[in-house]
Amino acid sequence: AAERERAARVEAAEREAAQAAQHVRALERSERRFHSAFTHAAIGMALVATDGRVLQANRALSALLGRDASALAGQPFGDFLFGEDAGLLDEQLARVLRREVEAFSLELRCRHLNGREIWVSLHCAFFDDAAATEPCLIFQVHDITARRRAEGRLQHIAYHDSLTNLANRSRFNECLLQALEAQREDPARHFAVMYLDFDRFKLINDSLGHGAGDEFLVKVARRIQEHVRPSDMVARLGGDEFAILTTHLTSTQHAVALAERLQEVLRKPLAIAGREITTSASIGITFSEIGYRTPEEVLRDADLAMYEAKAKGKAQHALFDGSLHRQATEQLSLEGDLRRALETGELVLVYQPIYQLATRRLVSFEALLRWNHPERGLIDPAVFIPLAEESGLIEPLSRWVLERACAQLHAWHTQHPRMAHVGMHMNASSKDFASMRFAQRVSEMLERLELRPSLLTLEITENALMERMDAAAATMAQLRELGVGLSIDDFGTGYSSLSYLSTLPINSLKIDRSFVHRLHGNAENSEIVRAVIDLGASLGKQVIAEGIETDAQLQRLVQLGCGHGQGILLAEPLTTNQAGALLAALAAESATPFVEAAPAALAVGLRQPVHIH
Ligand code: C2E
Ligand code: MG
Ligand code: MG
Repeated sequence: AAERERAARVEAAEREAAQAAQHVRALERSERRFHSAFTHAAIGMALVATDGRVLQANRALSALLGRDASALAGQPFGDFLFGEDAGLLDEQLARVLRREVEAFSLELRCRHLNGREIWVSLHCAFFDDAAATEPCLIFQVHDITARRRAEGRLQHIAYHDSLTNLANRSRFNECLLQALEAQREDPARHFAVMYLDFDRFKLINDSLGHGAGDEFLVKVARRIQEHVRPSDMVARLGGDEFAILTTHLTSTQHAVALAERLQEVLRKPLAIAGREITTSASIGITFSEIGYRTPEEVLRDADLAMYEAKAKGKAQHALFDGSLHRQATEQLSLEGDLRRALETGELVLVYQPIYQLATRRLVSFEALLRWNHPERGLIDPAVFIPLAEESGLIEPLSRWVLERACAQLHAWHTQHPRMAHVGMHMNASSKDFASMRFAQRVSEMLERLELRPSLLTLEITENALMERMDAAAATMAQLRELGVGLSIDDFGTGYSSLSYLSTLPINSLKIDRSFVHRLHGNAENSEIVRAVIDLGASLGKQVIAEGIETDAQLQRLVQLGCGHGQGILLAEPLTTNQAGALLAALAAESATPFVEAAPAALAVGLRQPVHIH
């Protein structure tokens, strides 16, 4: 029995030993399998001690970090991370060791041996290893650099202007929001916002093409960026509009100085499309002292100030203050008034004679619009025409002028048949020329009044023409087809338009009055006028000088061969009655050919100020 018992114990011991051996073999196999999986895994893996030191790293991890497995072993894993990310890892490790969490995942930046930044997703968990004497952690490390880059690019696209690589409007608004919040927390943290707009971008775009326009934007963007501080934020809001956010502002004077500096550098010529282009910027500035709540409010006021700067002339800057709000509301009420004025007869036309200079023969009138406002008195067309253009009122306004001027000319011709050669000039806006229906309307008007088309001349300013070249060219061709005259107003103030001239179906050029005013017999001042007159002659276009005020100017113009002219020396803009009287006198004069014509004397009689009503 004892023998049997011993044999059974031996058998049991042997079975146990065999089982143990089997277990060890199984363990060994499992460990080998693990080891093999660990070593050959495609993702980076490391066994890490609880103090963060790497115990063992696999090939994928050493490849990812560009370091031998031997270089990794024994080093704290944090050593292979970028600065603040090591701290993030430590925090999470501490939580695992306190058993607050079982595992965690983090996105971190590792440092490759060559210094490159590698974004990884790291998963960490406890590793239970029967063979291990103390608990350890296992890290799984994924390279997510490509995904991060793509995200970064998307982020960049979402927040940057692709042309200039400056921040875009969304980004600017975000920074502005931060500046507003920072100031709410600490009222001493003032900031300023500048709104920049280039004074002749549209002309560059339209005359040199969009490629040149883009080149221009890229170059001015670079210039602006080079002249602000690194802490200033420059954004392109769209078109040729840029904004700058200046934080850490000690005084308003600082922002004004920056605006002046920018204007100076932006005035320097740029090489665009093989040409030298000179531009200037108008800048509106507003300050956090105003007490803004939203980014929209800030931009609105900077924009208002920019318009104020533009109204002062080119290359100016203006600071926002409350009175600009008032002006904006005032403009709104003026707009309402203008709508009404069209119906109530507050608008009137005056007529300025245009003479053939050598003979002093009256050839035409220019119809000029006046607004006799019941409370504000006489308002200049320079004030309300732009308003009408912005508010869409220009179309009914131009139609009214066209009807009035043509009807008046028709009436005069009927009254004074001898004066039936006298024509009418009317100013049209670029919006009229861009409208498909404009030529049609002119044609109907002429037919209705049985007016010879050649008696009507439409004036368009050089700048307006350049703004809407494509649309205007079509309308011009239609008008020319009708036989209506076309004239370029304020000629010489626009942008290098000479090359277009020969291709446009125009009859005359009007030399801008600013050039005429500079004619003091001084040879140098005459050059532009002489050039325009010569150009007109060579292209077979009439030349009309505007704003002749002195005898000296008149004589010089005649000397230079200028054919036609107008101005207060010859006659001021006349009321309907005054103009009618002038025609009556001239008709009588031509009826009695033996009386010496005395147009100068006539002009004297008409040189008093014009009173309307
Ligand atoms: P513009 O077509 O160049 O008109 C000539 C301007 O010079 C007129 O100013 C006229 O009164 C002024 N002027 C005439 N003689 C002299 C002079 O000897 N010296 C000086 N310094 N100026 C003189 P106004 O009437 O204030 O018109 C200003 C501008 O408003 C016009 O410039 C024209 O572009 C626009 N405008 C006037 N009437 C109309 C209109 O019916 N429709 C449109 N779309 N624009 C108009
Ligand atoms: Mg004109
Ligand atoms: Mg003019």
